[in-house]
Amino acid sequence: MLALDDYPRYGRQMILDRFGLQGQLKLQNSSVVVVGAGGLGCPALQYLAAAGIGKLGIIDPDVVEVSNLQRQILHDEAKVGMPKAESAARALKQINSRLVIDAVCDALSPDNAVKLLSPYDIILDCTDNAPTRYLLSDTAAFIRKPLVSGAAQKFEGQLCTYNLEPDGPCYRCLFPTPPARELVGTCEENGILGAVTGVIGNMQALEAIKIITGLHDKKPSLLLFSALGSPPFRSIKLRSRKATCPACGNSDEKFGEINKIDYVQFCGGPTPDWESRGLSLGNPDHRISVRDFGRVCEEKREAITIIDVRPPVEFGICALPGSINVPLRELTANPHPYLSTPREIYVVCRLGNDSQIAASSLREVRTEDIKVKDVIGGLRAWTRHVDPTFPVY
Ligand SMILES: [Zn+2]
Repeated sequence: MLALDDYPRYGRQMILDRFGLQGQLKLQNSSVVVVGAGGLGCPALQYLAAAGIGKLGIIDPDVVEVSNLQRQILHDEAKVGMPKAESAARALKQINSRLVIDAVCDALSPDNAVKLLSPYDIILDCTDNAPTRYLLSDTAAFIRKPLVSGAAQKFEGQLCTYNLEPDGPCYRCLFPTPPARELVGTCEENGILGAVTGVIGNMQALEAIKIITGLHDKKPSLLLFSALGSPPFRSIKLRSRKATCPACGNSDEKFGEINKIDYVQFCGGPTPDWESRGLSLGNPDHRISVRDFGRVCEEKREAITIIDVRPPVEFGICALPGSINVPLRELTANPHPYLSTPREIYVVCRLGNDSQIAASSLREVRTEDIKVKDVIGGLRAWTRHVDPTFPVY
C-alpha cells in the first residue's frame, strides 16, 4: 500500500505509461545495495532514494576527503573525515525520510560478500578496482542477482548490467582475465571529470529502476560513453552467458566457495608502494629523500638540474622553482639532450613512480660520470616533509 502523502510525491513518475501505481509499489517493496559511495555511488543513491526504493544498502570502508567533493555529491565540507557510508546515509535521509538504509563501513571481502549482498534484489557496482569488480561479479552470479556495473575515468565511462535473466553474461564471461595492472589506474592517477561519474551513476540508478519496475528489455549490452566524443554514446550488444564460465556457466570447472578465491592475487597482487619499493630494490645511490633533496636545493641550487617528468598539464598546476618540464614519454624516447650537462640531475614527479623510470632510462644511456637521482615520494612527499605550502592535487 502506498501512503497518502506518497501520491503527490511520486505522482510525476506514476502517471508514466507502463509505470503506474504498480511501478511505485514495486520500487517501495524492493531493495538495492550500492557498493561504493563515491563518484558513481553518490548520484546512483541520490536518484534511487528520490524515486522511492524501499531499502538501500551502502557499503564503503572509506572516509570523506576534500578531494572527493568535486564529484561525490552526497558528501560535503562538514563531513570530511566521516565514513562515506554514513555521510551518504545522512544525505539520503534528508531527501527521503521514509527510506530504510543500511550503511556498512566495512570493505566488501570474499568472506562477507554473500552475507552482505544476499538480502538485496539488485547490486550496483560503483567501485573502482579490479579485485572488487571480480568479487562482486562472482558473488552476484552465485546468488543470481542482477549486477549493474559502472566505471568512469578521465572523460569516459562504461555501463553494463550483468546476470540479466534468463541468460545474460557475467563480468567474467566478458573479461575472463584482468587487465595488466600497469594499464589500470585510479582516478587519483588518471583524473576524472565529476559530471562524467554523474552520467554513469545516474544511468546505474536508471537500470535498477527499469529492472524493478519491469521496464527493462533484458537485452545485455555494454554502453560506452565519451564526454568529448561525437556521438558521446555507443552501445555494443552482448552475447549470452558462456557455458564454460567458471562463475556463471554450467561446466565442471565452476568455482566452489567464493571465499576461497584470492582476488588481489588474481588481479596481479597488491598495489606497490612506490616510495618504499625503489628503496628496497634499487641502488640507494640512485635515490634521494625529499629532505636531503631540500638541502641540496638550498646549498647548491645553481649547480643542479631538476627535471620534472609530469605531463605538461600537471606541471602547469604547480612546479618547483627552476625545474624544467620533460614529460616521461618524451624523456624516455630521447634522453640524450639531458645528458650533456655535467651537472647533477634530480628527477621528480608527482608520486615518485615515473621519476624512477625516467632516472633509470637516463642511466641506461650513459653509465659513467653521471649523477642522476630520483626524488623519493615525489612532490607529494615534498609537501609532506619539506614545504607544506606546495600545493597537493
Ligand atoms: Zn560468466
